[in-house]
Amino acid sequence: MTLGSHISPLSRSYIEQADVVFLLVADGITEQWVAQMNSDVRSLQPYYQTGVSRMLSYQQMVAAILAEVRQNKKVVGAFYGHPGVFAWVPHKAIAEAKAAGFAAHMEPGISAEDCLIADLAIDPGTYGCQHFETSQFMFYKRTIDSAAYLILWQVGVAGDRSLAKRGTDGRYRQLLIEVLAEYYPLSHQVILYEAVTLPIQQPRITTLALAELVTAEMDPKTTLVIPPATKMVANQQMLDKLAALQADDD
Ligand code: SAM
Repeated sequence: MTLGSHISPLSRSYIEQADVVFLLVADGITEQWVAQMNSDVRSLQPYYQTGVSRMLSYQQMVAAILAEVRQNKKVVGAFYGHPGVFAWVPHKAIAEAKAAGFAAHMEPGISAEDCLIADLAIDPGTYGCQHFETSQFMFYKRTIDSAAYLILWQVGVAGDRSLAKRGTDGRYRQLLIEVLAEYYPLSHQVILYEAVTLPIQQPRITTLALAELVTAEMDPKTTLVIPPATKMVANQQMLDKLAALQADDD
């Protein structure tokens, strides 16, 4: 996620020893940094095209990676954050390589979630934590627990059915608010979060009312964090059963 610090020694060693490295990171400076680690680093950024569905770009990325795997090369896909978190290409590339009989595996990385836990001082274990991709959250009827944290990824493209937009506007966010308003008051304080990708930056931590999301500035890297709005309700029946068990044990 952050240039210079968020890479494990093992991941770095794989990159250095690969025949070819496919790279998808947040910015050009980070690309240059990784390019110093191997003489054949190929950016996956050019596969993104304005107005073209991201799914098509993703399929082309997987095809490019697999073409090199099929030539029996040592191939690394280096993705920002955790390659397995809200990321289709790494999972798909590994599954296809395995299905074709090649050895393939994923190394974990430091995701946006890890950074927000640190920067916002949130422990997902305190109240529980739910994660959804924002558009999926809008497209499907989901049940959420307003006593736990809710983290919505890709909020900058909320509601984009084409998968081709770089961002969606207030009209789309108004519909997101409509879904969220079933669970939260419009005055509920939420957080727009952006982890730093360069060590000279400061994280973006914008606290605002749910209703203000309509006009808020969004970026492809913005994540929406919704703190709990209600208190956890005790499950008295279960507590009673557990008390009975405890009494038997004692
Ligand atoms: N694999 C990535 C990870 O582990 O963080 C996530 C990739 S997902 C396709 C893109 C979404 O991740 C963004 O829309 C945003 O919700 C989140 N994200 C990516 N970069 C971020 C950053 N710098 N700060 C906060 N969230 C970020």
